[in-house]
Amino acid sequence: MAEIHLEHVSKRYMEERRPTYAVRDVSLTVEQGEFVFLIGSSGAGKSTLLRLMSGELAPDEGTVCLNNANMARLIGPWRVRAARTFGVVSQQGLLIRKRTVGENLMLAASAAGMMRRKGREAVKKALGIVGLPGVEACYPAELSIGESRRVELARAVLNSPSILLLDELTANLDDDVIWDLLHLLNELNARGTTIVMATHASQYVNILRRRVITLVDGKVAGDVKNGKYGDIVG
Ligand code: ADP
Repeated sequence: MAEIHLEHVSKRYMEERRPTYAVRDVSLTVEQGEFVFLIGSSGAGKSTLLRLMSGELAPDEGTVCLNNANMARLIGPWRVRAARTFGVVSQQGLLIRKRTVGENLMLAASAAGMMRRKGREAVKKALGIVGLPGVEACYPAELSIGESRRVELARAVLNSPSILLLDELTANLDDDVIWDLLHLLNELNARGTTIVMATHASQYVNILRRRVITLVDGKVAGDVKNGKYGDIVG
């Protein structure tokens, strides 16, 4: 079980020598098993918020807690254990082009602390989960965009994380590929995995009717259960 709790969290960057808030005074809780769409226009702060949730970024103000533990204060094995709670797909993609899919995933398995045999089993299982069994020997360039995203997702689920943080997983994909991915995410969610997904895919948000958190200029403008794209009542 894993719960993320943000209390008055802000993150700022220097832009033209002036501090600019990417995320401003955000307080929210994501409970284990929730499926959350994080929406907002480009620059609204979605990626920054996901990186704060995973502990990759530390807030300038406020606290991000995982199961009541302040992530900024975690050290050593506690930090490693917290990091393994999350499976992350970032916008820029993390696959190394000169390595095969299998090698890429084995690197992730090794980083997650798995020995070779367990790693190979986990890679096989993760590729099966995302519907791409047997692509270990392919190079990322040989895959379609949709297949690459699936491999990124396989990389994220390798360690059976409690929480998946997905940044624009469905960007630039055809409709049927998006549906396949969302179907897969629904299945993972039905088995208990928490999903927080930054997306612009309004039509899917409107059909799936999950919790919708809307960011405007780094602030939460709406947080609606069974919400639709553009709902900004709290
Ligand atoms: P979104 O994911 O909604 O597009 P981001 O979280 O990427 O929004 O960015 C929010 C704001 O923070 C933007 O104004 C962006 O330019 C700024 N920002 C994000 N990352 C950095 C960074 N590493 N350095 C400077 N500014 C940044």
